Amino acid sequence: MISVEDALARLLAPLEKLPAEQVSLAAAVGRVLAEDVAARRTQPPFAVSAMDGYAVRAADVARVPVELRIVADIPAGAGFGGVIGAGEAARIFTGAPLPEGADAIVIQEDTERRGDHVEIRERAGKGRYVRPAGLDFTEGDVLLHAGTRLSPRHIGLAAAMNRPWLFVHRRPRVGILSTGDEIVMPGDPIGPHQIVSSNALALCAFATACGAVPVLVGNAPDDPDALRTIAAAAKGVDLFVTTGGVSVGEHDLVRDVLSEAGLTIDFWQIAMRPGKPLMVGSYRGTPMVGLPGNPVSTLVCSLLFLKPALDKLSGLPGAPEPPATARLAVALKENDRRQDYLRARLVRAADGTLEAIPFDVQDSSMMRPLAQSDCLVVRPPHAPALAAGSAVSVIPFPGGAWPL
Ligand code: AMP
Ligand code: MG
Repeated sequence: MISVEDALARLLAPLEKLPAEQVSLAAAVGRVLAEDVAARRTQPPFAVSAMDGYAVRAADVARVPVELRIVADIPAGAGFGGVIGAGEAARIFTGAPLPEGADAIVIQEDTERRGDHVEIRERAGKGRYVRPAGLDFTEGDVLLHAGTRLSPRHIGLAAAMNRPWLFVHRRPRVGILSTGDEIVMPGDPIGPHQIVSSNALALCAFATACGAVPVLVGNAPDDPDALRTIAAAAKGVDLFVTTGGVSVGEHDLVRDVLSEAGLTIDFWQIAMRPGKPLMVGSYRGTPMVGLPGNPVSTLVCSLLFLKPALDKLSGLPGAPEPPATARLAVALKENDRRQDYLRARLVRAADGTLEAIPFDVQDSSMMRPLAQSDCLVVRPPHAPALAAGSAVSVIPFPGGAWPL
């Protein structure tokens, strides 16, 4: 058995970021930039009014009230060819270019219009409510960098930079093959000794959530020929993932059968719980991860191994999930030689600290507690017994964050 850390390092080592493709900005959210991006335009491109009001010369409104003659009307999107002279003002609206001669804006609320004159009732210093050209950025400024996962904020910025398309890394295609005579897809006819497959669709969802494209290869019964045939269909994917059939039983065929059909195993078995039988290798040149069959093991291993692998293929560093610290709500016994990942709820205690409440039963077949969990409590190999209230490392589940 190898450690979780070594396993991740060995899984990631041969993976390379996928080539770039050009996508429309409208389709770029969630993608990882493959280029540094420079602004194609200065923003704002010219000095603009930040308010609806009157463009004035600050010197003219040093003493108020004062009446100025209105010589122009400048809505956003329009310009004024003339110059605002002494004793003059221009009606102006938010986003409209500041006319030459003017150097301040008096907001509408501080004025009263009288025909072609306006009474100014508040002073405005030079530059008041004026957004100078380049306030946000200047043409040529490099504002987005290769390796950034594009959020709605980045998309907004790229749009303002006048970049209608971007080069991003291709999404990884993930082949997903479940195994087992007992496995039936949800909704399909089911025999008396069979169970519904949760892994295939959970993995599809997981891959999608990681920005990858899932490709459901199917379910292979525990029969060598069938497994060989169905696995061979996993062509053209960037990562091949199987679930089940990778443990030590006679019906666990993935390692032996696929080894005769182009699988090279790098390692098998990790000192962790759940997920011990995980296997990593390459199948006909495609990186392959053999996930354990128990649904909780499948998803915990997905978070710990699949996500960094997909991140790396997508152009990100492929760093493990960053742990946080929480206080244990209950005592825990000392740990054995496998790194433990306990499914737990995470609540904010009255004093503001995070409190982790592990589920009593930690069975790797149980989806309900996993779905009700907010985090995994990480217990290193041979961790000593812990009293309630002790600090522990937790891996919070992503997904709850506000999407901006
Ligand atoms: P295996 O590693 O194939 O022995 O599977 C371990 C356990 O996980 C067995 O109880 C299987 O029935 C179960 N299992 C395997 N694949 C799936 C799946 N796709 N969905 C739900 N449970 C599964
Ligand atoms: Mg099986």
